[in-house]
Amino acid sequence: MKINSPLEVYKYLPQTNCGDCGEATCMAFGSHVIDRSLKLEDCTPLLEDKYKKKYLELSELMAPEIREVTIGVGEYAVTVGGDDVMYRHQLTFFDQPGFALDVWDTMPEAELVERVTFIRDFKKFYVGRFLKLDMIAVRSTSGDPGKFRDAVSKVMENTELPLILCSLDPEVLKAGLEVAAERRPLLYAATKDNWQAVADLVLEYDVPTVLFAPDDLDTLKSLASTFLEMGRQDLILDPGTNPQGNMLRESFENFLKLRRAGIKEGQREVAFPLMSVPMTAYLTGGDAVSSSYWETVLATVFSVRYGDIMILHSIEPFALLPEMHIRDTIYTDPRTPVKVDSKVYEVGSPGKDSPVIVTTNFALTYYTVESDLASSGIDCYLLAADTDGLGVEAAVAGGQLTGQKINDEFKKVDFDFSEKTGHNTIILPGLGARLQGDLEDATGLNVLVGPQDSGQIPPWMEKNWPPGKKE
Ligand code: SF4
Repeated sequence: MKINSPLEVYKYLPQTNCGDCGEATCMAFGSHVIDRSLKLEDCTPLLEDKYKKKYLELSELMAPEIREVTIGVGEYAVTVGGDDVMYRHQLTFFDQPGFALDVWDTMPEAELVERVTFIRDFKKFYVGRFLKLDMIAVRSTSGDPGKFRDAVSKVMENTELPLILCSLDPEVLKAGLEVAAERRPLLYAATKDNWQAVADLVLEYDVPTVLFAPDDLDTLKSLASTFLEMGRQDLILDPGTNPQGNMLRESFENFLKLRRAGIKEGQREVAFPLMSVPMTAYLTGGDAVSSSYWETVLATVFSVRYGDIMILHSIEPFALLPEMHIRDTIYTDPRTPVKVDSKVYEVGSPGKDSPVIVTTNFALTYYTVESDLASSGIDCYLLAADTDGLGVEAAVAGGQLTGQKINDEFKKVDFDFSEKTGHNTIILPGLGARLQGDLEDATGLNVLVGPQDSGQIPPWMEKNWPPGKKE
């Protein structure tokens, strides 16, 4: 039976409260293990011989319902699966879907290198971090083992991203493994026709593999049972991604059935990450833009339910950006507001005449305001007040942002208005206008109310800054 309370975890811990894990007590560590913000291995005493048995038992009892599978090695390794719930609001989804973009072995070398470089370097800054692509799927379109080996080698020369080796011909897969096995690539795929030969490769090279049985869950289950009997736990199941019509509905329902069987019905033989292949959109015969658009629709559908890893083709920004944003949104932990450190940030090179502006530490709010200020060339001090990740309007309504709180926040970081500025003025966000009197009382400073939308700060500044300026 799976463990899901800190007290149950505590029973297996050394119970010495030694603090090596960074927590004051073993019980506190237990709560972090339950919410997966810490790993069992962070309790180093638990790894000692005398606790080894308990560690192994606890690892078994804490294992996620859907197994985790790791592709690649080192800092670029991608782990997929790991979910415990059917619906995000029940806990959170773990291990966001791994996105692999394809290359193929009949591409001219210069094109292949250019595409790999694009995939490797593609990134989009979003609320304090970069959204990136994860893997490269190398497809054998030639059917020639030699060509495939050369293409895999060329990809490896240009990126350390994990690889998916794609062919239904075991000879071709073997050629790829001969050069890439050390990178622990994912094989795509074992089917009812080639499974024996692919199983031999999996055992020889010790790599994860996809089991592929389009629109046939019984065969998929049977393949999974066979590989499990061989001792393989690093499996990914692909029930097929039909791009259109009733068959798309069937694909979607197959994903639901597999996930329900893995989590709710305890069918361990299908409790593996699921692969979706949205690039089947290109089989519909549409033009390149329509196919790219439809691929994005499929990636969205299966990011929501329950694609753990995907192979994509389009590198158009209008396809990649929504795919990456939706994935990020679905896999953001709903229990933890996305926030930035609460402090006074310097935007540009502020001096004594620069404004001091207040916002909150909700990451989306902070980065929107910061970006509007920076792109308009407004040098200023920007306080990200600690509202526990709430935006301005909600924090004012809920009492997390008050005049006293803002005063305390400036004091907490020793922000001395008379030393830093020559104006003793604070600008409140428009959505916090009702705090103006409070803040004047708390700080004794002059308080101006800015616009509700940070995009309007530049024209507002023109009319209202420096303080005392008449409209
Ligand atoms: S390191 Fe282990 S034994 Fe020490 S306090 Fe943390 S959980 Fe307890």
